Amino acid sequence: MEGSHVKEEQLELVDVIHVEGMGNGVFARKHFSEGDVVMSERPSVVLELSYAKDELAKKVNNFLRRSACEEAKLSCAFQWTLWLCHFFQLPEALRNRIETEVYSPREDDGVAGVIQSETFSDADKFSHFLSDFCSSSFTALMDLPELEAVLDVDAARLKRLMLLYICNFHQYQGKAALFLKCCKLNHSCRDANTKYVVDCSGLALHVALRDISPGEQILTDYLQGIPFMSTHERRKKLLETKLFTCMCSACLSEDDLRLLPCTSRGDEGEACQGSCSCRDGRWMCKECGREEEVETFLSQQFLRLCGLGLAEASNKSRAEMAEEFLKVEERMVKESYSKIFWSVEEMGKKHAHFSSALGRQHPAARRMEWNVERTMAETSVTVGG
Ligand SMILES: [Zn+2]
Ligand SMILES: [Zn+2]
Repeated sequence: MEGSHVKEEQLELVDVIHVEGMGNGVFARKHFSEGDVVMSERPSVVLELSYAKDELAKKVNNFLRRSACEEAKLSCAFQWTLWLCHFFQLPEALRNRIETEVYSPREDDGVAGVIQSETFSDADKFSHFLSDFCSSSFTALMDLPELEAVLDVDAARLKRLMLLYICNFHQYQGKAALFLKCCKLNHSCRDANTKYVVDCSGLALHVALRDISPGEQILTDYLQGIPFMSTHERRKKLLETKLFTCMCSACLSEDDLRLLPCTSRGDEGEACQGSCSCRDGRWMCKECGREEEVETFLSQQFLRLCGLGLAEASNKSRAEMAEEFLKVEERMVKESYSKIFWSVEEMGKKHAHFSSALGRQHPAARRMEWNVERTMAETSVTVGG
């Protein structure tokens, strides 16, 4: 554990090497033991995203509200505008380094999925909107003079900067930060061998989760271990927030959903005992062959397990069903995450159902709340999501 006492930047124990289909990757230059700090870096740019705390963020928010255009309502509009305002105020040398060294996806860069992402086309729309709006509206630059530089920049370069933001910024103490070297770490849903943490001095650490051999690729989990996602959900999230289709070992194999059994019944009324799996968003029972969209299956399972769908059920039986549901859920939490498929958002929604049906003070509802909070605490929200 001696590595975890690193107090300063440490970037020389790894090499950055080009990897086919993944752009650059970071590789270990030496052996690391579990708990060692593999890389540590201070951010080159920190963006305060909260408009309650930051004057520029507040101005950007007002600017977008007043512009009253469809594009201003795009989900990334605020972060993109804030980033561009911030970017053009950075020292020129740093701007050059960012634009030459940091990855920004292109249609033809060989990374799977890039152009399927909605974020990619949103960046296209928004970059044109900004350059047209700033050059045609008198008030635009009065409201937000920080955007003046945009007048000299073409939409293609703005788009590139927006996508660069989406793909490289890390969540950092409630803000967004860019690390020039650590942003080159690739992702794996299952084989991440490091974990990203920020120490009390603001230094970002990538800590080994297991022993790592020299020459091995250093991988991180961009979703920060969100354990409740199916492959379908994970890939969707990675495509929209990081603009690639994940091809890691977990994403290429099917989800095993045997913990939530098939609910079909045969002629004798016997419940089907088949094991179930999930691929490409479809749930399937391997025994009786029943197939559903995974979302449909999950909502049926949820209603069955906690009984909230039965208007005639008494509170007592609902509470019993809720208890049963929690037991199943706890068992799932203990199993490996590839078998678990509920996202934090879905858990939050289920908790809201519980609270309204049972009352917030009911022990089952409180335990559910605790589960959601614990999961939230273990999960970092991805920047740009
Ligand atoms: Zn994956
Ligand atoms: Zn079945």
